[in-house]
Order: sequence, then C-alpha cells, then structure tokens
Amino acid sequence: MTNEVQNDLPRNCPLCGANRLDRVVRFKTGQTVFFCTRCHNGHIWPPPHFTTSDYAAGHANNAGIFAREETRRRGYANHFCNFIRKCHTLAGTRVLEIGCGAGYLLDAMASEGARVEGIEIDHDTRQLCINRGLIVHNADVTDWAKTHEGRYDLVVMCHVLEHMQDAKTCLSNCMLLLAPLGRLCVAQPLHTAFVPRVMGRRWQAWAPEQHYWHFTPRGLSQLLTDQHFTVDAVTFSHPDYRYPSIRDVVRPKFFIACLTQAVAASFSWLIASHDQFYLSAHKQSN
Ligand SMILES: [Zn+2]
Repeated sequence: MTNEVQNDLPRNCPLCGANRLDRVVRFKTGQTVFFCTRCHNGHIWPPPHFTTSDYAAGHANNAGIFAREETRRRGYANHFCNFIRKCHTLAGTRVLEIGCGAGYLLDAMASEGARVEGIEIDHDTRQLCINRGLIVHNADVTDWAKTHEGRYDLVVMCHVLEHMQDAKTCLSNCMLLLAPLGRLCVAQPLHTAFVPRVMGRRWQAWAPEQHYWHFTPRGLSQLLTDQHFTVDAVTFSHPDYRYPSIRDVVRPKFFIACLTQAVAASFSWLIASHDQFYLSAHKQSN
C-alpha cells in the first residue's frame, strides 16, 4: 500500500491510481470504504492491520467458525461448486483452492471427480482438512506459484481475494499456476447490492478488520483482463448462508442484526439484487 495520506484520507485509488474516490461507508474504527469511479473497485482506508501472520496464528478463529457453521458453510460450498461445475468440467481436473478453509468446497469438487489440493495457512483449519484425508499445503501463494507453474487446470478462491493486501500479485500468481487455457473461479461479496445499501455499516461482509478490497464484477473483470484473463461468466448469489443459527438467535443484539439482514435478504431476493457474485475467467492462450 503506497498511498500518500492527506488529512487521513487516501488521495488515490491503490489499484488504478485515480483520484476519483467516493466515500461509501465509515466505521467506528475510523476506517472508511472508498469507491473508485474510474476502476469500479472499492478499498478501505486506513487498511486493516490483520496480516497473513495473524491468519497463520489462528487469530481469526476460522477453525472454530468453520466447525460451528459446518452445515451452512457446506451448503454455500455446494452452491458455489454448482457454478464452477457449469464453467469447467470437474472430473479429472487438477484443482487448487487458495485459502480453502475447512475444505468444504474441496469436498464438493472432489465428489465431482476433481483432483483437489488446497492452500491454507491457518494451522487448525488446515488440520480439519488433513484429518479428512485432503491434500492441503501450508504455503505462501507467491512461493507456491514459482514452484508449481502451469500445474493446475482450475484455481479457485472463495471469499479470499478481498483479504489479500496485494490483490494484483495474487491474480498474477493464479495466472502462473494455471496450465494453458486454465480457469479461475472466484466468489466475492458485492457492496453495491441492495442488502449492504440497506444495512449500511452493519453489513457483515464489510469486515473492516480484514477486508482490503470491495470489488465489483466490472472492476474485477478489468483487473483480470489486465492480467490476460478472459472473463466468461458472472452470476449473483444470495446471502442466505449467513442466516443465523439457533445459538446466535438467543443473543439479542445479534438477533436484531440478523433479523435486519434476513428482511433485507428477502427484499434482495424479490428484486433479484444479491450481495455476492461468482466470476469465472480463463487464461488467454498467449
Ligand atoms: Zn481505481
């Protein structure tokens, strides 16, 4: 992150350098999400302090969250897997999922015949995968790309890219990992949808403590085109995997937040405006 700071505000978009920034939402932490009207992507300023080392040390408690929400998260993984399956044949395909969490999406793709591997830096979460017999590496993506160039037919990132401080390098690593005409599938939150507009800063996917970026289909497509991908498909998804469990509902503050989200999600379904998107792109032939 190389922005110059003036009055605690970013002067330029960290992705394209333009100074055409609109303020979207401001948090109690003092952080603000800005939207760049040139490249159509958002970023938070100041950026989060949550580093890859914090992930590796388990400070996000991902293992606990994945275990507690297994049913809901497997449902979401299956939903995303259905999109991937429409874009790419999974049987016999060599797949790498970057940031695979507890491996629920790996399970879904493996059940379709894919030869799956994951990268997960959180030790406890990785162990959940390994305990089920999945091949999951503890690796830096840049290092892995250098030693596994062209090894995969499909690279998948499910709600991961927004956590990457250097998103452009992450996409260029995906390009390196893929075989000719290999495919990249990503799932992302979508802050321009109806639900976040209604919920304001209570929308869960702002995650200002962890999310550097808030991409849009148009903005992410341009970043991918710049990296010599061709975008083939974008679809939109419901936020229903975030509905509360019974355990959550008994906490009044959380209940109100979830009720608001459920109502907003119902409206979003009615007007077909969803707060996530799935995108599929393939590596250009030269
Ligand atoms: Zn920009």
